[in-house]
Order: sequence, then structure tokens, then C-alpha cells
Amino acid sequence: MTVTIIGIGLIGGSLGITLKENGFATRVIGVDASQENLHKAIRRRLIDEEMSLAEGVAVADVIVLATPVDAMLKLLPEILDRVNTYQTIVDVGSTKELMLNKIDGHANRNRFVACHPMAGTEFSGPEAALPELFAGKMCVIVDGEQSAPDALDTARRLFKSAGMNLSRLDRKAHDLHCAYVSHISHIASFALALTVLEKEKDEQRIFDLASSGFGSTVRLAKSSPDMWVPIFRQNRDHVLDVLDEHIEQLSKFRTLLIKRDFDGFYERIERANQIEKILK
Ligand code: NAP
Repeated sequence: MTVTIIGIGLIGGSLGITLKENGFATRVIGVDASQENLHKAIRRRLIDEEMSLAEGVAVADVIVLATPVDAMLKLLPEILDRVNTYQTIVDVGSTKELMLNKIDGHANRNRFVACHPMAGTEFSGPEAALPELFAGKMCVIVDGEQSAPDALDTARRLFKSAGMNLSRLDRKAHDLHCAYVSHISHIASFALALTVLEKEKDEQRIFDLASSGFGSTVRLAKSSPDMWVPIFRQNRDHVLDVLDEHIEQLSKFRTLLIKRDFDGFYERIERANQIEKILK
């Protein structure tokens, strides 16, 4: 298979190296807005060669769209205009509803398979790519019944070859559940980092006193705004809903502290501990 990856950053670059190493791809072509990223990707052997968007789409069996989700809104209809019935397009974006609404009714809609590999780190760019990033993680296929059976089969084989488990959701459910389990935790982490930066002006003290607890809760705050702002823009309503609940929870802790109600505090922490039954 010739695989063209558009957006050769953390996720695109990790897929490039993974698909080459596991034999799914015989040739990996990179397309990117950044010439520097393409050079880095070639140096790190994430891709075999670089091409323009038009060339990369024309020669590919499989096209992987791995840019931030705002760029996908523009790129996907353009790519659908160019593909033939033997080619498959998959994406890896973190939001789906807006993009899928945009291509409803397109003549080549069924060549596209909407996918969300639920794997990543807080780092971005080709220098952050990892060959084992996807192993053992979940990949959600969204509105899969709207894809041609052979395209769906290609997408499934691609992500399975990377060691992923597969599940299915429709576009609304995908964006709602991702707001609950992924997008809110990033906002909470960004807010926590800003809180500590605001209160503790001594950077050396943050470094010296931050235990692993602080490090793990603010890890996500290192994530790139180029990737996250488009996600919050596209999933605004679901994120607002869960953010209201989060503010309510913080405010309950605040009230208990003001009242010196430490029994109430104990009870709330015990309830929070129940997350351990789900995430061991
Ligand atoms: P990333 O490391 O920043 O990589 C994105 C790459 O796309 C960059 O090289 C960027 O170049 C390039 N790019 C931007 N606009 C482009 C355009 N119009 N045409 C061609 N290339 C373009 O981001 P990432 O973390 O890999 O995320 C990529 C996608 O995966 C996003 O849609 C994200 O929602 C999804 N995703 C991410 C994670 C995660 O944890 N990171 C997990 C699952 C899914 P520049 O650097 O020059 O902008």
C-alpha cells in the first residue's frame, strides 16, 4: 500500500513509522504545511518522501488526514473531490460532527472513514512521534455505516495493524463522550497550570516542590494550542456543558472549606475515589 499522510506531526508521524515498520505500508508519503516538519520527518524516517497535496493524493491507496481539526474542514472536501473509487481516506481528528455534517451528500462520501485513535501525548510535531503510540489503545470508527465496505475494511486493517482495538460510535455520541472524558481534562489542566503560575511567582520553587502529583495533573497543560483551540471551537457546546458541571464541583469544595466541613470533604473524596473501580 502507498499511504499518504497529510500533517506529519505527533499522530501522523507516529502512524507513518508504525505502518512502515509493521508492513501495512510499502511507501509512506508526507504532505505538510511546514517544510521544516517534512525535513524532520524524513530525517527521522517517519516518511519515505514528501509531495505536494495534489501529488500525494493522486498516488495514494490510503490517504490519512492528520492535521488539526480546523484544517481538516477545508482539506477533506477538496480531497473527496479528487479521489477515485479505489482510494480510501481516513482521518484521526478529535472531533467529528462538524466535519461529517460538511461532507454529507458528497458524491465520494463513502470513500471516507472517520476514525479517532484515542492515543497521544502532550507533545506535538514530528520530533514527538513514537512507533508504539497506538498499541493496546482504542480507535473509534464514527458513522462507519456511511463508508463503503472495502474502505471500512481498509481503515480497520490499518488501525488493527498498529495494535489498536476498535469500537464504533455515531458523530454526536463521539463528540459528547470525548468532551466528557478528554476535552474537560485538558481545560482543567490548563486552568490548574495558570492557577499555580499566578499564585507562585518563584519558578525554582515550583520546580523544587512539585511532586509527581502536580506533574501528572498539569502534564496535559503542555499540549499545543494549535491542536486544542480548533477542538474547543468545534465541540464548544458539549465542552460548555461539562465545564459547568466541573465549576459546580469546584464550587462545592470551596463551600465545604469555607464552612470548615471536613466530614463533607471526606465524603466527597471517598465518592471521587470510586473512579478507581473504572480506571484501575
Ligand atoms: P501536531 O503534532 O501539531 O501535527 C499536526 C501537523 O499538521 C503539523 O506538522 C502541522 O504543521 C500540520 N498542518 C497544519 N495545518 C496543515 C495543513 N493545512 N496542511 C498540511 N499540514 C498541516 O498535531 P497532532 O497532535 O499530531 O494532532 C493531529 C490530529 O490528531 C488532530 O486533528 C488531533 O485532533 C488528532 N489527535 C491528536 C491526539 C493527541 O493526543 N495529540 C490524539 C488523538 C487525535 P505546523 O506545525 O506547521 O502547523
